[in-house]
Amino acid sequence: MTIETKQLTVARAAKALKAREFSAVELTEQFLENITAENPNLNAYLEIFEDSLEQAKHADEILGRGEGGVLTGIPIAVKDNILIEGKIASAASKMLENYRAAYDATVIRKLKEQGAVFLGRTNMDEFAMGGSTENSAFGATKNPHDTERVAGGTSGGSAAAVAADMTLAALGSDTGGSVRQPASFCGVVGLKPTYGAVSRFGLIATVSSFDQIGPLTKTVEDAGLMFGLISGIDPKDSTTLLDESRQTSEKEKMTVGIPRHLFKEGVDAGVLQAFEKMAKKLSDRGHRIVDIELPSISYALSCYYVINFAEISSNLARFDGVRYGLHVDGIDLLGDYTKTRGAGFGTEVRRRILLGTYVLSAGYYDAYYGKANTVRQRITNDFLDAFKTVDCIATPTTPFPAFRFGEKNDPLAMYAADIFTVPANLTGMPALSVPMDPVVRDGATLPVGFQLTAPHRGEPALFHLGKILEI
Ligand code: GLN
Repeated sequence: MTIETKQLTVARAAKALKAREFSAVELTEQFLENITAENPNLNAYLEIFEDSLEQAKHADEILGRGEGGVLTGIPIAVKDNILIEGKIASAASKMLENYRAAYDATVIRKLKEQGAVFLGRTNMDEFAMGGSTENSAFGATKNPHDTERVAGGTSGGSAAAVAADMTLAALGSDTGGSVRQPASFCGVVGLKPTYGAVSRFGLIATVSSFDQIGPLTKTVEDAGLMFGLISGIDPKDSTTLLDESRQTSEKEKMTVGIPRHLFKEGVDAGVLQAFEKMAKKLSDRGHRIVDIELPSISYALSCYYVINFAEISSNLARFDGVRYGLHVDGIDLLGDYTKTRGAGFGTEVRRRILLGTYVLSAGYYDAYYGKANTVRQRITNDFLDAFKTVDCIATPTTPFPAFRFGEKNDPLAMYAADIFTVPANLTGMPALSVPMDPVVRDGATLPVGFQLTAPHRGEPALFHLGKILEI
């Protein structure tokens, strides 16, 4: 049996599975076939789980009894930094190459309860640091739309897997854009939920005050479905939010603010054109488009990276060659640490640990880390002020489409690509990337995303507007 996976979404497949048009085993077999055809070239998956058909059989038993939830039998790919009990979770690092998770992340537990089928773990930038998946210790992921270009990062494997029909949906994590940026580059939908909406228990920490797990899907409807199933308060993560704080009401007609003052430099002309076309779509549908100013936003990147480095230097201290993963013998205990960390971490990870240690050091804490936290609050206030008059804020997701491998070897050039995505992590606000008209570069048709940001817990507004933009 051949299943046309191109046209299939989570919502459609769920209906077909319930109607027994095909079984979960047949659906899984089809995706495994797609993976065998595509993955050797794209390197989106680091591992295909050998028990995926077993999982599908179990889902079929549930479906056969007329039971199960929306995701029963639905194939899902999982970023390599989210723990699944008994499986390797390497965060695409040599440090954790052979590390097996001892427990399930909360999001995984929730999806298991649904009867979802985990196909495998997807490639990423090492410890979720980067913007292209080139920092993976296990080779870069190629963009399915042009294999000479990056898939984006850090959830590049998850985005490429959805875009190349190697799964129906994937989980990623977003610290400064890592769900939305690869979604933009690969032409899929990506959601960074409100900070605290989704439990981080079982997510390998990068920057604890920024990290959120989010879905990558083909449609906004699917992103909404996935979000509904993975979110909720969790006693194992004290930063999770009460379900009652969710916004349920949504306005039929909304006001969307655009900070055009941000688009002056470094934004690709083709991207801007596609962006204005999407904005017009919203106004044609009766939504009001207004210009807004976010005065402190020019400091967003510097502020983000200071806090990013600081928290990374602290979070990654746990990889000491004793407790987790790799161990390399040195001449004494300190030697063990330096040898293990030198061998286990890649260049970008070491760079960030060093800079983070510096900005947190006694002499520089106030000048860098302390200042960055003040600026973070200012930026949040800018957004809160703007949300007094608008319901959502729109920008392109990325200033340009997917770039070529090696094109952004200079770390600062790579960081500059995050200009539109980091504010949602600084402020904790939810943001959604939906595909807009692609741009053509050197004969290749390259997707780019339109990003909507809402106030805390405003995901329903994002889904409402996002669905309009898809038509
Ligand atoms: N590119 C950003 C960084 O390198 C975002 C990464 C992420 O969201 N994990 O920090």
